[in-house]
Amino acid sequence: MTQPAPAQPRVTVWHEYRHEHDNPRVAALYPHGMHATLAAGLRAHGLTSVRTATLDEPQHGLTDEVLAQTDVLLWWGHKAHDDVQDDIVEKVVQRVWDGMGLIVLHSAHFSKVFKRLMGTSCDLKWREASDRERLWVVDPSHPIAQGVGEYLEIDQEEMYGEHFDIPAPDELVFVSWFTGGEVFRSGCTFRRGSGKIFYFRPGHETYPTYEHAGVRQVIANAVRWAAPTASAPRAFGESAPLEPLPERV
Ligand code: ZN
Repeated sequence: MTQPAPAQPRVTVWHEYRHEHDNPRVAALYPHGMHATLAAGLRAHGLTSVRTATLDEPQHGLTDEVLAQTDVLLWWGHKAHDDVQDDIVEKVVQRVWDGMGLIVLHSAHFSKVFKRLMGTSCDLKWREASDRERLWVVDPSHPIAQGVGEYLEIDQEEMYGEHFDIPAPDELVFVSWFTGGEVFRSGCTFRRGSGKIFYFRPGHETYPTYEHAGVRQVIANAVRWAAPTASAPRAFGESAPLEPLPERV
C-alpha cells in the first residue's frame, strides 16, 4: 500500500552529469552540474528534502534505500541513456507503479525509464538553432501551471517539434511554439500504476534554462503534484470469494 507523502515530499534529482565534463559551455552554465541547479531551484520554492544522484555513482546513486526514500524522482539524461543499467531501470519503474512521482525533463524523453513507461518510441523532431520558445498554458486550472501566467517565454532553446511519439497524455498542461513555426506538447501528465508522471520539455544543456524563474516554478509545482497521495490498497492474484458461490456442476 502506498503511503501518503510527508508534508515535504522527499525529492531525488537524478542527472547523467556527463556534458559538464566534456563541454566547457555547459560547465560554465552549470559549474556544479545541472542537478545542483535543479535542486537549488526546488529549495528556493520551499522544498527542503532534496538530494541528488548521478549516473557514475555506484548503482547510479539509486540504491534500494534511496529509491525507497524518494517520493518524487527528477530525471535528466541525454548522451548516456544506454549506460543506465536495466536492473536499475526496472527498480525505478516498479517504484513508479507503487506510487513514486516521476518528473522527466527535456532529452530524458529518450531515457530507458520513460520509454519503458510509455511503451512507444518517444521520438520527436529537434533543431539546435537558438529558437525562442513560448510555452502556452492550455490547462489554466492545473496545479502545475499555477503562478506562471498565460505563457512562459524562453529566449533561446533547442527546438522540439511534433510529432512526439508518446501515448495520448492524460492531461496536457503546456503547448510550445518555436520561432521556426513548430509546436510541441511540452507539458504532459501520465499515470502508470499508482504513480504520477510529468514530462516537461525545456532544459537543453547549452542554455541557462534551469535558472529561468518560470521554469523553476513549473518544476516545483510538478514535484508537489506528483508526490504520492493516500491510496486504497491494491490487491492482485488469486482471490477467495467474499460471498459463498452457488454449487455448479
Ligand atoms: Zn537538448
